[in-house]
Amino acid sequence: MALVTDLTVRALVDSLDARFPRAWAESWDRVGLVLGEFEHPVTRVLCVVDCVPETVDQAIELGADLILAHHPLFLKPVSSIAPDTFKGALVHRLIRAGVALYTAHTNADVANPGVSDALAARLGLTGLRPLAPAEGAAAGEGRGLGRIGELPEPLTLAALTRLAAERLPVTAAGVRAAGDPGALIRTVAVCGGAGDSFLSVAARSGADAYLCADLRHHPVSEHLAAGGPALLDVAHWASERPWLDDVAAWLREAFGVEVLVSDLDTDPWTVHANRDDLEIRP
Ligand SMILES: [Zn+2]
Repeated sequence: MALVTDLTVRALVDSLDARFPRAWAESWDRVGLVLGEFEHPVTRVLCVVDCVPETVDQAIELGADLILAHHPLFLKPVSSIAPDTFKGALVHRLIRAGVALYTAHTNADVANPGVSDALAARLGLTGLRPLAPAEGAAAGEGRGLGRIGELPEPLTLAALTRLAAERLPVTAAGVRAAGDPGALIRTVAVCGGAGDSFLSVAARSGADAYLCADLRHHPVSEHLAAGGPALLDVAHWASERPWLDDVAAWLREAFGVEVLVSDLDTDPWTVHANRDDLEIRP
């Protein structure tokens, strides 16, 4: 184990790049080191889903030297990082505070273990295999997007929805399900983050239910009308937050460095109402 004081941004980036190779990311994705001085020492890391003003504040308050973020700060090319732009202001604040920023996104999704393993573990799924096995550079060794596995005991869709709400971080959006509430669920597919592009894969997978984020009316109703498995829609942040614990545990083990996990809910949704209740994010 390296001495804490020996760890530099460069060494950490090299190890992260080895665990989550950039070649595993989707072609449209942008991963790896976003900013940071290579020779800067790292004694404290903060893991977040989103690099936004709230989590940057948190990193600076906690004295973190590096933010490991799941979502890229920059996905599209920019021609300015002027401080009066939303993202430019973040770049300036991070550089002034000496906080490096690193992103592991779809390359962490396909990794084994990856983002969906942590999600599946929260539900107690066993016998995990990829929902969509990786192709190209990431192919092999159980890598792929999403996971499919079995519940320890069958549950109705209603009970599985309640279980997901209990086991995943609380959000204003909560968990909603589509399909017969009494249907018995044994095999569950999951995908951290937006999962609608895998609806047809989930339908062919043999899963009784598919849990992911960001589902919409028409794709869901058409999927169910075609006989597809029940669907559970969870908050995007809540679906990826469990992975932060896994990557933090690995960083602590590998480097003996202090690693903190942000529980700041960075989902954009803050209020959820029904006729009989109104929930506002604490
Ligand atoms: Zn995501």
